[in-house]
Amino acid sequence: TDSLHIVGGGMAGSEAAWQAAEMGVDVVIHEMRPKVGTFAHQTGNLAEMVCSNSFRSDDDEQNAVGLLHWEMRAAGGLIMSSADAHRLPAGGALAVDRDPFAETVTNRLRNHPRISVTEEEVTDLPKDGQWIFATGPLTSPALGEAIRHQTGADSLAFFDAIAPIVYADTIDMRRAWLQSRYDKGETEEERTAYINCPMDRDQYEAFIDALLAADKTEFHEGETATYFDGCLPIEVMAERGRETLRHGPMKPVGLTNPHQPDVKPYAVVQLRRDNALGTLYNIVGFQTKMKYGAQTSVFRMIPGLEEAGFARLGGIHRNTFINSPTLLDSQMRLRSRPNIRFAGQITGVEGYVESAAMGLLAGRFAAAEMLGRDIAEVPHDSAMGALIHHITGGADAKTFQPMNVNFGLFRPVDGLKGGRRGRKDRYKAYTDRAKAAWNDWLSHS
Ligand code: FAD
Repeated sequence: TDSLHIVGGGMAGSEAAWQAAEMGVDVVIHEMRPKVGTFAHQTGNLAEMVCSNSFRSDDDEQNAVGLLHWEMRAAGGLIMSSADAHRLPAGGALAVDRDPFAETVTNRLRNHPRISVTEEEVTDLPKDGQWIFATGPLTSPALGEAIRHQTGADSLAFFDAIAPIVYADTIDMRRAWLQSRYDKGETEEERTAYINCPMDRDQYEAFIDALLAADKTEFHEGETATYFDGCLPIEVMAERGRETLRHGPMKPVGLTNPHQPDVKPYAVVQLRRDNALGTLYNIVGFQTKMKYGAQTSVFRMIPGLEEAGFARLGGIHRNTFINSPTLLDSQMRLRSRPNIRFAGQITGVEGYVESAAMGLLAGRFAAAEMLGRDIAEVPHDSAMGALIHHITGGADAKTFQPMNVNFGLFRPVDGLKGGRRGRKDRYKAYTDRAKAAWNDWLSHS
């Protein structure tokens, strides 16, 4: 019988290979390293961690990424069992001894009777056979071109430009208000699609000073900054002139503050709904290279965001990713070429853990299809489900940017109070519900 071909032996490809092989499918991994390198990878190992050695929080009751760890462990995940075997002390975080971790993953895959590894760069999307492309943020240029040719230029990005994303329920609506500029839109929902935060002159000037003074991250070597058209970092806009932002993303026109109808704001920060649930909002035009600590303090200067909780902070990186909401079906197949699946960071998730998680699902989907087995839809209430449903449907395709797993992607739980104590109960309710849903799915697939 035919083999499943997996291109890219990173976090996602390694997990996909393991899952499919464990289900009884023969797998060939095509990995270009060490023959062809990237600017970030250093070795020829599979599942190399290119930067930090952390899988982030391991708390499976209060943290969405910790919950994702739990779900992958329950599914017999190779990435998690290898990380657990090489865990370093790091408080509540799962820090990993990166070289032995990658060696363990590599050996377990190479020694698996159903898996073989070939060292080659794949540069096209084959018409025949079952394929999973998990080539990551640093997909080789030739393959990037081939994907672009298949999906259309607008559907493949080479950089992310992530504006910070705020939990809707942490925005102070006694200061902010709902309104689209010039009340544009056919429906009430469209006319109130934005949350607006007003600034007076002093607040604006102080905000510009803070932007200019903030610590910024430099680009990595080789990560050339050709992103500049269309998605300038806000601090770069501020450097071009103190008024630039007030005439750009922060322009105050077409908006009336219902809390102070007689006072014309000097500038307005707008937040746009980021998911269908309406639990997440992104700050429009605020992509940035500011360091994370600086971002939190600078953005909390915005009236209405004093207590903001961030589902993710902003960034700009070299990152190849496709427009999954339009291109992929719910089983991660390319709609225009269903013999091809995508997995990992190239599908628009972000991070080692999220990438491995999407590899886990893609491997299982592909294997089930090849074995002629039905596989139920991944439950929305699990962390796996929240993430895959976000990228294949819940996210707004027009403004699609890579996403970390977070509780804002989950269907809200009813009947729990707000506030700090309330948040703890709510997160526990999310994780309890998720574990039950995930166990149920695993027992049926
Ligand atoms: P990768 O792990 O990158 O694996 C993709 C694999 O595909 C690679 O082995 C590559 O060699 C191979 N490949 C590419 N093109 C081809 C081809 N044409 N043919 C064959 N093989 C190919 N995430 C974090 O969680 N924490 C961090 O600190 C962090 N820092 C990062 C720093 C940098 C500079 C970059 C670029 C990314 C960082 N990330 C970080 C994101 C991280 O890379 C991903 O989350 C994760 O590695 C993605 O997994 P993946 O399997 O999708 O891609």
